[in-house]
Amino acid sequence: MHEKRIDTVPGIGKVTAREFQRLGIETLSDMVLFSPRAYDDRREERLLKDTTIEDPSINCRIVIISKSFFPSRRGRTLKVTAEDDNGTPLDILCFNREFLDSVLHLDSVWYINATVERRMGRFSTSQFELKRRKEEIGIGKILPIYPLSGNLTEKIMRNASSYALSVLSPFPDELPDRLYIKYGFIHHDKAYRDIHFPSRMEDIEKARRTLAFTELLVMEIKAKRERGKREKESKSITTPLEMKLISSLPFDLTADQKNVLDEIRKDLDSKSPMERLLQGDVGSGKTLVAWISALHAISKGGQVAFMAPTELLAHQHAEGAAKLLSPLGIRICFLSGDVKGKGRALVLDALRKGNVDLAIGTHALFSSDVGFKNLTYVIIDEQHRFGVEQRESLKRKGIKPDVLSMTATPIPRTLALTYYADLDISTIKTMPKGRLPVKTHLVSEQKREEMLSSIEVEFIRGHQAYFVYPRIESEEEDGLRDVNTMYEELKKRFPSYSSRMIHSKLPEEEKMEILNLFRDGKINYLVSTSVVEVGIDVPNATCMVIEHAERFGLAALHQLRGRVGRSTLPSYCFLVFQKNLTEDGIERLKIMRDTNDGFRIAEKDLLIRGPGEITGIRQSGFLHLRFSSLVTDSDLIEKAQLEAEDIIQRDPGLLKGENQNLRKAIEASLR
Ligand code: ADP
Ligand code: MG
Repeated sequence: MHEKRIDTVPGIGKVTAREFQRLGIETLSDMVLFSPRAYDDRREERLLKDTTIEDPSINCRIVIISKSFFPSRRGRTLKVTAEDDNGTPLDILCFNREFLDSVLHLDSVWYINATVERRMGRFSTSQFELKRRKEEIGIGKILPIYPLSGNLTEKIMRNASSYALSVLSPFPDELPDRLYIKYGFIHHDKAYRDIHFPSRMEDIEKARRTLAFTELLVMEIKAKRERGKREKESKSITTPLEMKLISSLPFDLTADQKNVLDEIRKDLDSKSPMERLLQGDVGSGKTLVAWISALHAISKGGQVAFMAPTELLAHQHAEGAAKLLSPLGIRICFLSGDVKGKGRALVLDALRKGNVDLAIGTHALFSSDVGFKNLTYVIIDEQHRFGVEQRESLKRKGIKPDVLSMTATPIPRTLALTYYADLDISTIKTMPKGRLPVKTHLVSEQKREEMLSSIEVEFIRGHQAYFVYPRIESEEEDGLRDVNTMYEELKKRFPSYSSRMIHSKLPEEEKMEILNLFRDGKINYLVSTSVVEVGIDVPNATCMVIEHAERFGLAALHQLRGRVGRSTLPSYCFLVFQKNLTEDGIERLKIMRDTNDGFRIAEKDLLIRGPGEITGIRQSGFLHLRFSSLVTDSDLIEKAQLEAEDIIQRDPGLLKGENQNLRKAIEASLR
């Protein structure tokens, strides 16, 4: 398309052009690609009798029947009374528009578009548009309603889009012919016209689907080619170091763990840097995959950095790694913001000299004073917890290290392939052998005591529990249970069992100590906030109680529930809810009760909250979708994935004539 700037539209100067820029519109083609947010259907005349409270607009012919002035704060205001074709009178209050007196002659005919008010049975308006000719007022048309910025008005926008359409048309087809036929898409010239100025409401959705599919297809092809560029080795070798670890484990790796490791090893062995996302539900054994793959990189002489989102979790991982990997001679260090002074200097020195193989820590691993000798592999645990910034800054540290991002908050498949389009994705679906699904109960206030008794039975069996509350301290007004109060209350209820509180306000060291005691079985239950949400691994804990469960998001509930069911012991999750739960709230808790599948939960979450709310997506600058919706267009996303694959198969370089415009669209989107 042309690169004519938006200020070539007659009437648009530099100042107005700046407002267009705020909307992302720099050129005429940007304007064509700017989707209206709604439409004003003015095809039917709307007389005064047709107005309702919901839609108080009129759109019709009127005749001026009288004029007068009434005194107002600013002097005098013109009041014109007119009648529509039905003979209903309308008072038109011309605030600051006294000049209308000289054109609105008695008995003259006008066309009006206005929002009216009705008081004591009489209609009046002060928001109106009057035109001499029917066409000018848009009667008979469907008008686009655009998102606005600053001083822009719909009139300016409509004028700009209509001008851009006329200058740039005819628009060439962007898809190969067969796709128009196969999916009933309309040709692009009509699609661009119809998305802005449709002649029938039915045409809008057809145009939108065509343009939505096109943009999704462009995105998918782009991403697939990006992925395709990365060379893959054909076979992977398991190094002796890895073998040693694997054979020392008291269990076998699951089939999925083996497959995923295979994929990762091939990436690590190839010349192009890995960019891989490892998805696996809570408790599916991602950490072990991380360690084994780290050994692969270390065997080849590289350094590995493992980053966790919280200090607590980083510590837990460092301890786990020490137990598992130190016996193999791996040199491990820990680094967080809390490692200071001499200790820090030692760690930094060792990293720089290459005396450390595996660095485990928080994002402090990538602060400016940290340097590595030969960082070749970066593993990010719970990657959705990190901002895009952090991930990028870390990649800059080494010379293009391989990156494995791990997440237990799966994104629905259609979305993952799109949102993470430029990443390779590995998925662990199967759980380690012998795992029982966590039994989830919804517990009303009346059933709390019953719940506490069954937890007591678990204590008698030697098992442990978590109690989670939405806040640390009580706030009188809302009557929510909190960690402090419940700690005291539960002590009275379970006098012979030991407990500790844990929440974000405690110093890191104390949190660590409490967690270690809990892991060693010296504490029977923790009273906590959602700090235990991420990653904590205590297999002997079998009960998770979440009070005011309706206050937590589905993803958080799923993560919290994932703290139990981490061994072959049967385990339980209790979601305690308040009396006056909303429909939505009930619906969400039922989803939790009915499925343990993180992928299903993520999909429901997406439907309930929309993609912007799903962790990670909001920060991402990746999605600039104009016409498609990741929530409602999943059918189009699947089609686009399918066709992208097919097109690349047939014509990898997009050199055929039928793909020429697609190639141009891809090139344009890369600029
Ligand atoms: P997540 O995927 O949530 O990070 P973890 O890596 O913390 O899960 O693993 C959960 C638990 O399962 C750990 O205690 C780990 O030792 C154990 N585990 C990992 N792989 C297996 C396996 N193949 N068989 C049995 N247990 C396993
Ligand atoms: Mg984990």
